[in-house]
Amino acid sequence: CGIVGYIGTKEPQDIIINGLKKLEYRGYDSAGIAVVNHGKIELRKHVGAISNLEKLIGEERLGGHVGIGHTRWATHGAPSDLNSHPHMDMDGTIAVVHNGTVENYVELKAELEKEGVVFRTETDTEVATMLISKYYHRNHDLKKALDQAISEMRGTYAIAVVAKDQPDQFVAYRKNAPLIVGLGNNCNFVASDFSALLAYTKDVYLLENGDTVVLTKDAVNIYDEEDRLIERPMMHVDWDV
Ligand code: GLU
Repeated sequence: CGIVGYIGTKEPQDIIINGLKKLEYRGYDSAGIAVVNHGKIELRKHVGAISNLEKLIGEERLGGHVGIGHTRWATHGAPSDLNSHPHMDMDGTIAVVHNGTVENYVELKAELEKEGVVFRTETDTEVATMLISKYYHRNHDLKKALDQAISEMRGTYAIAVVAKDQPDQFVAYRKNAPLIVGLGNNCNFVASDFSALLAYTKDVYLLENGDTVVLTKDAVNIYDEEDRLIERPMMHVDWDV
């Protein structure tokens, strides 16, 4: 139900968990985080309150400079540790957070199973994860893999993806579910709404439906539905947290 993504010079962990707390009002049943650190995805997730996730992580530092986090409101698959986001693909190459639903996940799942994909959950999100993974293993281009998967997925959703071998970028997409981009100094963000970001930046882009965004620590590239690199108006938010 809530998404926060960060890339920059700091460790993502505290920024993402603080951001998720600001999204608690949206309601959720579980929470999780994935960080790319030294060619590996560090993933922690837990059913229940964000404080459960914090307890699970304890004093551990997940490290890295890019990460995504999620609060889940279960639509497909019961609330559980396993069904919580982020979801990883079979060999731990990518991690995905997702709000909303993939309507044709049953058909997509059946096709992927025929191709040998083994699913661990009942969620629609895991299907999206495996589809993105399939294309990422072919082309090693995170944006292209996301775009290819999206072209096969029906539904309303916002989604963000990191890859273990991509410490310098992550990608996100929105279609009929909220997602904004926050612009920082040497860092950039995505989030379901302003409140998650206001402690870090007040400059945001409002994405439009069908936008795919590629974020690095110094750049945000937004592509529209026709894959044209475009500018979205920047907004300065004058609220206090
Ligand atoms: N459909 C997804 C699930 O049930 C995402 C739900 C959400 O928006 O949090 O896992």
